[in-house]
Amino acid sequence: MEGALTARDRVGIQDFVLLDAHTSETAFLDNLKKRFSEDLIYTYIGTLLVSVNPYKELDIYSEKQMDIYMGVNFFELPPHIFALADNAYHTMLTEANNHFILISGESGAGKTEASKKILQYYAVSCPSTTLLDNVRDRMLLSNPVLEAFGNSKTLKNDNSSRFGKYMDIQFDIQGDAVGGHILSYLLEKSRVVHQNHGERNFHIFYQLVKGGEEDLLHQLGLERNCQHYSYLVQGECANVTSINDKNDWKTVRNALSVIDFDESDIQHLLGVIASVLHLGNVQFEPDSKGYATLSNSAELLWVSTLLGVNVQVLQEGLTSRKIEAKTDEVLSPFTTDHAVYARDALAKAIYGRTFTWLVNKINDSMGNKDSSRKTVIGLLDIYGFEVFSVNGFEQFCINYCNEKLQQLFIQLTLKSEQEEYEAESIGWEPVQFFNNKIICDLVEEKHRGIISVLDEECLRPGEATDLTFLERLEEKLDSHPHFVTHKLADKKTRKTLERGDFRLLHYAGEVTYCVVGFLDKNNDLLYRNIKDVSLQVSTHVASQFKSSLLGLTDILMSKEPWYVRCLKSNESKQPGQFDNVLVQHQVKYLGLMEHLRVRRAGFAYRCRYDVFLQRYKPLCPATWPYWRGVAAEGVEVLVQHLGYLPDEYKMGRTKIFIRHPRTLFATEDAFEA
Ligand code: ATP
Ligand code: MG
Repeated sequence: MEGALTARDRVGIQDFVLLDAHTSETAFLDNLKKRFSEDLIYTYIGTLLVSVNPYKELDIYSEKQMDIYMGVNFFELPPHIFALADNAYHTMLTEANNHFILISGESGAGKTEASKKILQYYAVSCPSTTLLDNVRDRMLLSNPVLEAFGNSKTLKNDNSSRFGKYMDIQFDIQGDAVGGHILSYLLEKSRVVHQNHGERNFHIFYQLVKGGEEDLLHQLGLERNCQHYSYLVQGECANVTSINDKNDWKTVRNALSVIDFDESDIQHLLGVIASVLHLGNVQFEPDSKGYATLSNSAELLWVSTLLGVNVQVLQEGLTSRKIEAKTDEVLSPFTTDHAVYARDALAKAIYGRTFTWLVNKINDSMGNKDSSRKTVIGLLDIYGFEVFSVNGFEQFCINYCNEKLQQLFIQLTLKSEQEEYEAESIGWEPVQFFNNKIICDLVEEKHRGIISVLDEECLRPGEATDLTFLERLEEKLDSHPHFVTHKLADKKTRKTLERGDFRLLHYAGEVTYCVVGFLDKNNDLLYRNIKDVSLQVSTHVASQFKSSLLGLTDILMSKEPWYVRCLKSNESKQPGQFDNVLVQHQVKYLGLMEHLRVRRAGFAYRCRYDVFLQRYKPLCPATWPYWRGVAAEGVEVLVQHLGYLPDEYKMGRTKIFIRHPRTLFATEDAFEA
């Protein structure tokens, strides 16, 4: 009917590769928006999945939906996170190799939700035995526990992951999920002692104070009042409408029991959490000489009881430093500022080590001791690129991490594309696009990279300060195109920079960092006798690992990649709102247009012969209802019949490669007709 919208007009196109060959950014955004307005939040670019956060519950994640996607060919159903999970799983089984799913996007874009959906898909849809149900429950329940201890409300996201998480899901030869292993990265410990306005500490503190049973709170010396704790009130938002701390407490408490935590583990864990709250309330005042003394000892007594540390040692540790003299050690007293610093350092260290202990415990409970051959699917959910009005060391680390992942994406996308053409004996011309290696080098290069300069400065205690660090950077990175400071900037840019700032031109955009705190946080040093205390506290921190991003890159490089690119639809967490400018920015820096171009540079579409034949065989009398010969020959007969021009397709070893989407489109239309 003339004027009526066709289904395709209304719901957009489900794979960008099928849009017109010279898709503009506007057309790309239009397609996303069109689909979003129909609650179709997923779209493919080939096998890459783009997801736009709907900020509302959609009825697309039920077990019934999982069944629909199980074992079905990728492009046969509407795009879905389950389709990607299923495809990765089946490829792993057929090819007996390891895979990983990299989920990226900025804070609040939906990475953690996506990773949970994938885990649920595997837990529900893989073959099962009673014994394995146990492992699966633990894998699923590790989520609420880790989120309680590692997530918090930020300005961007009410449930923001404040650590990076890489989880291997192990499968045996039959495809049963038999175990899991988690690596955590860069927990944002500074949040324990400081939160910006409108942000909270880690969820667990509020859950415990609001939801903890009377007896328990009594035992831990806690009051049922978040306002009482100085570590909980700085952001002035202990209550958040979207969060039900009391209910979450129950979930976490239950999950802990399922994941093999016995009562004494739980007591210990909660004791440490409570001790951090007490520690935050320890106050100091100057004595007549200006040295720090305790304002009151009640809170410190609780800390000492809960941690099982001698109160005297604790008090000395917080108010003085041990200095080694020739034959002896003497105590050098602190000012009140120093004492507060030492207190906060201890709180951060305790929390950080507890988190590591927690991850190790979870790993023990999901671990698979059986040594038979297994393949894995790794899930990487790492905090997204962040820009706040003031950005510190934490944002620097997070954004650097995202640079590295982008670099990996570039390498793997190009690599896999080239390898595929090579393996299939198809000629190919590489596409140029912005390579962010220059920014990775700026951060990590030996001697002149930012991290290297920072480390050098940290080796000059007493002399180096955050500002000398900045000066060193200015000397070394004088004319670097991605680095600018007040001193190095031209007149116009200078106005936008403070003297203590440096600005990096990240692949995702400019970020200005304030150097205050860089040295301290990089050092993460505890005064020596405070270290003694925390060592006592943490004797059962069984094994500590220090995984660098480099280690992570190695882990990922050895596996086959799948990508989920999450986009944030709007800044105000509103359902149904699609902010063009915001989405456009993300499309740009996630390199989605470039990815599309790479997919198209050679051949926009490729499909295994048997799959292609199976789908389109009704279109040709010679292949319908059966083609009795080799699939490749059947495909050749089929496409000849359809009138494909010689330049439009290539026959590889196992797949047909189609240059222009319109060719496939026409075939698809003929099929639908
Ligand atoms: P961060 O980097 O801060 O950890 P994130 O990318 O992990 O952010 P999520 O926590 O996954 O972001 O998502 C933020 C919020 O957006 C969720 O709490 C949920 O309210 C909503 N959301 C995300 N994905 C979906 C989805 N698929 N369906 C419905 N709501 C979603
Ligand atoms: Mg997250």
